[in-house]
Amino acid sequence: MGFTESALSRYATTIHASWIGDHVDAVIGQTLTRRAFGAVNRLALGRAHQVRFKGRRGLHQIGSLEGKSHAAGLRWRERALHWGSVVLPMVKGADKDPVIAYGLSQRIKYVRLVRRTIKGRCLWFAQLVCEGVPLRKIDPNTGPFRHPYGSEVQALDIGPSTIAIVGETQAELRQFAAEVVRDHAHIRQLQRHLDRQRRANNPDCYDDQGCAIPGKHPTQSSRHQRQTEARLAELYRREAAHRKTWHGQLANHVIAHGMFIKTEKLSYKAFQKRYGQSIAVRAPKLFLTILSRKAERAGGGVIEFNTRTTALSQVCFCGQKHKKRLSERVHTCDCGVTMQRDLFSAYLARFVEDDALQVAKASVSWPGAEPLLRTAWQQATHNQPASRGRMPSSFGRYPSGPSQSGSSEKETLPDPKAADGVPFAQAKARAAERAKV
Ligand SMILES: [Zn+2]
Repeated sequence: MGFTESALSRYATTIHASWIGDHVDAVIGQTLTRRAFGAVNRLALGRAHQVRFKGRRGLHQIGSLEGKSHAAGLRWRERALHWGSVVLPMVKGADKDPVIAYGLSQRIKYVRLVRRTIKGRCLWFAQLVCEGVPLRKIDPNTGPFRHPYGSEVQALDIGPSTIAIVGETQAELRQFAAEVVRDHAHIRQLQRHLDRQRRANNPDCYDDQGCAIPGKHPTQSSRHQRQTEARLAELYRREAAHRKTWHGQLANHVIAHGMFIKTEKLSYKAFQKRYGQSIAVRAPKLFLTILSRKAERAGGGVIEFNTRTTALSQVCFCGQKHKKRLSERVHTCDCGVTMQRDLFSAYLARFVEDDALQVAKASVSWPGAEPLLRTAWQQATHNQPASRGRMPSSFGRYPSGPSQSGSSEKETLPDPKAADGVPFAQAKARAAERAKV
């Protein structure tokens, strides 16, 4: 039949006459087929290592389920989810939330059913995939909108634990997702507890030394074991929710200064290998995904450029290259530049066009930008709240002695127009146009 999606789809139609047809309607069968093909295809192309199969034991094994259109299968009608003979009404009063009320007023494209396990309880949520743009929250205290859109070109340098944000009129160096703290000790304790329970429940799977016997998989579990599993899952779920909130806040903060963002294209795989746990907790790639989505919605976007051709952490705009070790946090050059490395490479990133650093522009704007970056560096090293523990070494030590920082007055700042990135020029004009209307 061939290894194509349509072939699998045809096969799915033939097997649909079996027990599957009693549980899954044709439209949802099609989207499940599409997902299954996507998974196997990724495996075939070497982009995935393993495919997990879902058994026939029921929906609880599936994380989400969606229709293809709003015409058949899962439907949302009169504030209730309809699926065959099942009708599930919306939670009472849910539409008092302005975001939900706004969503309900839009045209629905299709409905997705999502499973979440919260505090050990399995809950299903209906996600309405709507047409149009998301609601912008209004806050009369801070201006018309709670999250304003800035118009600067900004550059980010995202490290495993720090983020440097450099725009035309502001710069910032801060810890990345520092608020998301993983309780390693508690997780380890629960994992060990779970391991002991699994061994006690499946004595046949382990030999006298306590080693797992190849080919034997633990299948038995007790009520207590499931409780431990639920507690562990809850810890991870809360951490993930916390991380997502934090990422969203930082993205709004960045976009408030400028929605045209440039950053290095990082190999997050390499990142993961190097800093495994730190990356798992902070998830910089997730941040970038959230940021791109929000920036595009605002009318801007994120441009990721190639690190091989730019190598921003090693170059200086005077033309010299300084290969640095990771532990060297300060960029010092013969031409007189001394700057925290992440701030400096974010500064340079602002002047990258078409995967190449525009050295002349970066050099011309430096005298104006230096005080800004210096202030950011100083603030990062001095304004560390004691509650958050010690300052990360990645900030580098701010040079003591007579302050070299000038003023951060507006007139010393570079002309924002000179710093405009070419790819953003059109989008910026469009944004200005919209602001006039
Ligand atoms: Zn230099």
